[in-house]
Amino acid sequence: MPLSSGERRPANAERRELMASARPNGWRNPDPVETYDLLVVGGGPAGLAAAKAAIGRGAKVALIERRLLGGVSLLTGSVPSKSIVRTSRLYADMRNAERFGVEAPSGIEANFAAAMERLRRLQARISKYHSADRLRLAGIDLYFGAARFAGLDSIVVEGATLSFRKALIATGAVGRRPVGIPGLELSGYYTSEDVFDLTECPRRLLMIGGGPLGCELAQAFSRLGAHVVIAQNDAQFLPEEERDAAQLLSESLARDGVEIHLNSTVVAVRTTMTGEKLVDLVSDDNRTTIAVDHIAVGVGRIPNVEGLGLEEAGVACDPTSGIRVDDFLRTTNRKIYAAGDVCLARKFTHAAEASGRLAVANALFDGKTRWSSLTIPWCTYTDPEIAHVGLYVSEARERSIPVKTVTVLMHDTDRAMIDGEEEGFVKIHLREGTDEILGATIVASHAGEMINEITLAIAARIGLSTLATVIHSYPTQASAIKAAADAFAKTLVEPSPVRDICRPEWPTD
Ligand SMILES: Cc1cc2nc3c(=O)[nH]c(=O)nc-3n(C[C@H](O)[C@H](O)[C@H](O)COP(=O)(O)OP(=O)(O)OC[C@H]3O[C@@H](n4cnc5c(N)ncnc54)[C@H](O)[C@@H]3O)c2cc1C
Repeated sequence: MPLSSGERRPANAERRELMASARPNGWRNPDPVETYDLLVVGGGPAGLAAAKAAIGRGAKVALIERRLLGGVSLLTGSVPSKSIVRTSRLYADMRNAERFGVEAPSGIEANFAAAMERLRRLQARISKYHSADRLRLAGIDLYFGAARFAGLDSIVVEGATLSFRKALIATGAVGRRPVGIPGLELSGYYTSEDVFDLTECPRRLLMIGGGPLGCELAQAFSRLGAHVVIAQNDAQFLPEEERDAAQLLSESLARDGVEIHLNSTVVAVRTTMTGEKLVDLVSDDNRTTIAVDHIAVGVGRIPNVEGLGLEEAGVACDPTSGIRVDDFLRTTNRKIYAAGDVCLARKFTHAAEASGRLAVANALFDGKTRWSSLTIPWCTYTDPEIAHVGLYVSEARERSIPVKTVTVLMHDTDRAMIDGEEEGFVKIHLREGTDEILGATIVASHAGEMINEITLAIAARIGLSTLATVIHSYPTQASAIKAAADAFAKTLVEPSPVRDICRPEWPTD
């Protein structure tokens, strides 16, 4: 059930600025050309990257956006969530200022409304980089309206029929709504669609779901002053991540005051006369009831294909995994490609952008790049952050690849000690008997930055022994990667007698 309009985002200068970029008032859709080389449906990261790549190489391009340019990433995803993560991290650091020898003034308080205003300022600012005017100036025909396929090579938008040589579906995904929990719909709950519209920090919040969204928001809201309870119907948070990484995250959430219920399923919600929500949780045979003021839900995302007319276009789609694509991102209609959340298992902004560009190269310019050949890292922006690239050990084992893992604790890294950010580790998985990096997991305060070095190494086929020769500036947390590489390189050195090392012609002093 949607929340009351009183709790929604107020119209303000930032909102107007955002709209001026993302959907200008009085926008007039262009007159269609006879046939577009590329017709892109969806103006999120995948669609924008694709349209820009195609126009940059001389194609005639149209882009159709139903709502606002920027998609989930700008409006309800990466940008707003990382904005409140930043504020909450700063606030947590300030409360710990004494550890660093700083007398924090008493009575530091987070100003939630001001933090949300900052978030909206950031959205307005970032929206300018792909504004409607910029797209028009670049030569892209921009249409606002809901697109629907009218056949194998045409689309209707706002009454106009557009023909295409190639099309790209980049319509993203929407939050999955939990079903079968009596009382939940009636009680009302937030999703990522509206949680960033809050102007007051909830006093008591239940977060249903312990994936990246649930964990990031639970920690951020807890740090900003809410009493947060998180319920996850699995034995660990971030079920896809390695167990020791998830364990460190649990400990960190607990330290931040988050009340953790793992292996717990929400089975019923009752709303009292005062508006309080009583939530029943079941874990094994135990039933617990908790009382909260608000509920937020982050239980996965499903492809956004409603009303697209995929059948008319001959495009096959699975309700859970999304539009069916081959390794070149081609759908079951050879003229139509898909990119981003609507077809990818890993739903990230950078993956959406990369897939948009790859689809354009394959569709229009005889590219033959396989999606599976790309190296895509990802990160959950909790504190510490949890980043991964390449294979997990379990995946390597499934493929019968023998694995050797090199681990360095952040605790043993000078800069992590200096920064007071010692939690975590760098784990690099190698093909046993070689220095080929198969994958890595980094848990560290800035793991999202650190993982890029390993991503580069994997993408450029640089082995771990070469990373050992790369000089890292001191002191940096990324030195933990160099330390892992050094530890590995040491295992390759054959011990030799001292007299062979100190040959007589060498200077002795
Ligand atoms: C809370 C949250 C936090 C996140 N944090 C991160 C993060 O830190 N890092 C990260 O990499 N990723 C993050 N993500 C994921 C990231 O936002 C998405 O992976 C990314 O936005 C996907 O881009 P996309 O272009 O595939 O789809 P979208 O961004 O969903 O864009 C699709 C666009 O298509 C439009 N559309 C849909 N149907 C039609 C139609 N019929 N006609 C015309 N237009 C249509 C929509 O209006 C929308 O603008 C987060 C997501 C959430 C929800």
